[in-house]
Amino acid sequence: MFDLNKILRDNIKVLKPYTSARDEYKGTEGTFLDANENAFGSATAALHNRYPDPLQWDLKQDLSTIKHVPAENIFIGNGSDEAIDLLFRSFCRPGIDNVIITPPTYGMYEVSANINDVVLKKVFLSADFELEADKVIEAINENTKIILLCSPNNPTGNCLDANDIIKVVTSFNGIVALDEAYIDFAPEKSFLSSLSQYPNLVILQTFSKAWGLANLRLGMAFASKELVQILNRVKPPYNINGLSQALALEALANEKKKNEYVENMLIEKKKLSFELGKFAFITKIYPSDANFILVKTTGGNKIYQFLTDNKVIVRNRSSIQLIENCLRITIGTANENAALLSALAAFAL
Ligand SMILES: *Cc1c(COP(=O)(O)O)cnc(C)c1O
Repeated sequence: MFDLNKILRDNIKVLKPYTSARDEYKGTEGTFLDANENAFGSATAALHNRYPDPLQWDLKQDLSTIKHVPAENIFIGNGSDEAIDLLFRSFCRPGIDNVIITPPTYGMYEVSANINDVVLKKVFLSADFELEADKVIEAINENTKIILLCSPNNPTGNCLDANDIIKVVTSFNGIVALDEAYIDFAPEKSFLSSLSQYPNLVILQTFSKAWGLANLRLGMAFASKELVQILNRVKPPYNINGLSQALALEALANEKKKNEYVENMLIEKKKLSFELGKFAFITKIYPSDANFILVKTTGGNKIYQFLTDNKVIVRNRSSIQLIENCLRITIGTANENAALLSALAAFAL
């Protein structure tokens, strides 16, 4: 049985969170002399002298409508990276506990584990990048606190099989963090609609990809009310600045734009995969459910260097196990993709 209280670190269990001025008095009307802000103004054209809402309720309200998840089940972080780090800090005892990741996958999981001195167990994906659910379950021991899964997976681009994900979630008494950073681009549906069935599931999404707001640093975590409360207690009081909150609200009111970007990206991806297939030194184009394509080449480092010399920058994944000699290519605009293709054509000469 999953018991949130049982896996929580003792220091977090007894933690008295910092209460900010904006926590203690929640009204919006009055003379505010409680937070040592500059009452006279800001050293900028627009006013930014007041602290933002520490729990971003306006943003969560609108997200709730779009995502069909109650606002209390939503956590907003300074990028998904903050949510990942908070999960480590809340549940993993440094030097004692471990987490499981399934490489090749997003590099931040390993960095976050190392920063928090948490042992990392690696259960590699299969040769065709499928989740090896039974092997993951075998790797669990009494100190395993979190399993991190990424679907669609970065850098391989594929969605993990939903039944494999469910198998892991239902066989584990710790937390499964499912990173859906690229879900807006995928034909598969998000696990959000079944969130309430799985008390140990945390779904991570982001404003950095489909919404086009990487500059703002805004990530979302969806989970049980109890788990969201833990993240809120551990986070820095004002983790999301007011400008980002306002701009995210503007974006959510403009969801149509996001959907248009996704559609355009899908058209460009189809064109680009077709063209990439013509180069003899690209030996495999992996199927992609994301906004990037992973390609296998006859010489990843050499092609990467040639492209960089020609001012086209892709992600070199050549030395990573299971994806040797692979490059990860983000889908650009039609012009950007044309620049990539003409650089590749020059390499072929
Ligand atoms: C890009 C990406 C994110 C987004 O991280 P942010 O901190 O929200 O920008 C999360 N997970 C994966 C796998 C990614 O590739």
